[in-house]
Amino acid sequence: MKKIKGSCLCRNIVFEISNECRYSVLCHCTMCQKSNAEFSNYTKVKKENLKFIHKKNLKWFHSSKNFKRGFCSNCGSSLFFQSRSSNEEIAISSGSLDRKVPVKGHIFYKDKKSNLSFPKMHRKFPQSAQGFFDQFIYKIK
Ligand SMILES: [Zn+2]
Repeated sequence: MKKIKGSCLCRNIVFEISNECRYSVLCHCTMCQKSNAEFSNYTKVKKENLKFIHKKNLKWFHSSKNFKRGFCSNCGSSLFFQSRSSNEEIAISSGSLDRKVPVKGHIFYKDKKSNLSFPKMHRKFPQSAQGFFDQFIYKIK
C-alpha cells in the first residue's frame, strides 16, 4: 500500500499521497516563519500522486505574486504551498502526514531564526527553484 495519509488538525481536510514524493526540506524563509513556525518542513508531490478524501474547509491564501498557501479554514492548519500558475506539483507540510518523509536539507538557510543546530547530513541548498530538487525522490513504502 504505497501510500501515506495526511490531514489537518481537525481532520476536515484529509488526503493521501502515493508512489513517490520529494524528500522533506526545511524552509527557513521569513514567510514560512510567519505562516508555520521558525521553519517549515515540506515534501512535494506531482498532482497525480495526491488524492483528496475531504477538502471542504480548504482555503487558499495568495501569499506572494507567484505562490499560494492552502490551509484549513476551521482549525487553521497550514498544509500546502503551490505555484499560482501551475498545479502540476504541490508542496505538502510534512507534519500533516501520518508517517515520516525523511529530511534531506534546508532552503533559505540565510534567514534561519531558530537556534537549533541540525545534523551535518542535512545539506544547505541555495534556493527553492522549480525542479531543483527533482533528483531527491523518496519512494513511499
Ligand atoms: Zn482543520
